[in-house]
Amino acid sequence: MPSAATHLADVAQALSIRYNNRVYEMKARGEDVIVLSLGEAFFDIPLFSFAEMPMPESYHYNSSRGNPELRRQLAAYYGRRYGVAVNADTEILVTAGSKAAIHMSLMAILDPGDEVLVLEPAWVSYTEQVKLCHGVPVMVPIDETVFGLDRYVTARTKAIIVNNPNNPSGQVMTRAELEHLHALAERHDLFLLSDEAYSEFLLDDAFISCGALDPEKRHTLVCNSISKNHGMSGWRIGYVIASPALIAEVLKINQHLITCPPTILEHYLVRHFDAILEVTRPQIAEVVRKRGEMARYLESCGIGRLPGDATFYLFASIEPSTLGSEEFCTRLLEEHHVCAVPGIGYGTSCDRYIRISVGTESDERVKHGIRQVRRLIEATAPAPIHFRLEPAAAV
Ligand code: PMP
Repeated sequence: MPSAATHLADVAQALSIRYNNRVYEMKARGEDVIVLSLGEAFFDIPLFSFAEMPMPESYHYNSSRGNPELRRQLAAYYGRRYGVAVNADTEILVTAGSKAAIHMSLMAILDPGDEVLVLEPAWVSYTEQVKLCHGVPVMVPIDETVFGLDRYVTARTKAIIVNNPNNPSGQVMTRAELEHLHALAERHDLFLLSDEAYSEFLLDDAFISCGALDPEKRHTLVCNSISKNHGMSGWRIGYVIASPALIAEVLKINQHLITCPPTILEHYLVRHFDAILEVTRPQIAEVVRKRGEMARYLESCGIGRLPGDATFYLFASIEPSTLGSEEFCTRLLEEHHVCAVPGIGYGTSCDRYIRISVGTESDERVKHGIRQVRRLIEATAPAPIHFRLEPAAAV
């Protein structure tokens, strides 16, 4: 019998998706689970009419760069909102979600054996996508800063992946950090691949796109999507912004892999892009505020976390539990019916953390989930522990 490609043996499943699949199974058995593991926030979004979509063209293939009018809207959005001037004809391409945009971008810039710096905590797919492109991920541990990246650069380094705002910590990069990254990229001839999927999830205007500091797009590729900012993850619409030369390479990959994004969904977005953003913006502000409240609740429970104020995630410490993050999350799910994502999914230096998402459960249920985290930490600590403060509600 023929066997599957051996290089895939080294590629892991996405840990977050693996845990969410367990939740679906438990829910199918009628069990109640507090879901703090889903990578999205649920918003109330109206369904506009599909009856007005142009026919018959909505049924057919369209431009492999993405619908031209949608490209113009996305380019205008990046210009208006983040000060990144984008030529809609040559510098942007629409594809099947930012996951595909990131993967295709990596395919476009990596030769086999090229090294890519991945900063931990790192969203679960970067490492595996680099491997799928026959590149070598070079993991930068959690206690390193952007200013210490120079020492990870070798003659084989080709790119740095930047996740800003960061999933899972919610940290937003400062101008000084971004300037340092651009200087590093210039000095060593590296690409910066900036994943900005959570660009709207801030309470203030502190977000700076990586693209804003490289107006000529000499080395920057920006990936984003409608999954988080528009709350429409199921539509699988994402995009990449880069130089015309790089977009021309990504275009070949898009043509050979997906032909074009779903035509009817692009038409829908063309018509309702701004209206949907108007609906989601206040809800985004609400979920970021909720995140702040849950961060304070974590603190009142004596649970630490990585610093960060953006997104709807908290990267919570499980110290002083003796469990690794996978065993911790498995027991949290099986014994307490609370699902969180093990920190190890975000890099080996992150095994003392779990990711908590506040995007899909009520305040009370998130707080209940946090109290269960605390109970499990207490139950698995090497010696009896006394948390600094008592949480507002009894455990
Ligand atoms: N980047 C980050 C940091 C993410 O968290 C996600 C989804 N969880 C993605 C990219 C991919 O999102 P999508 O493919 O839905 O655009």
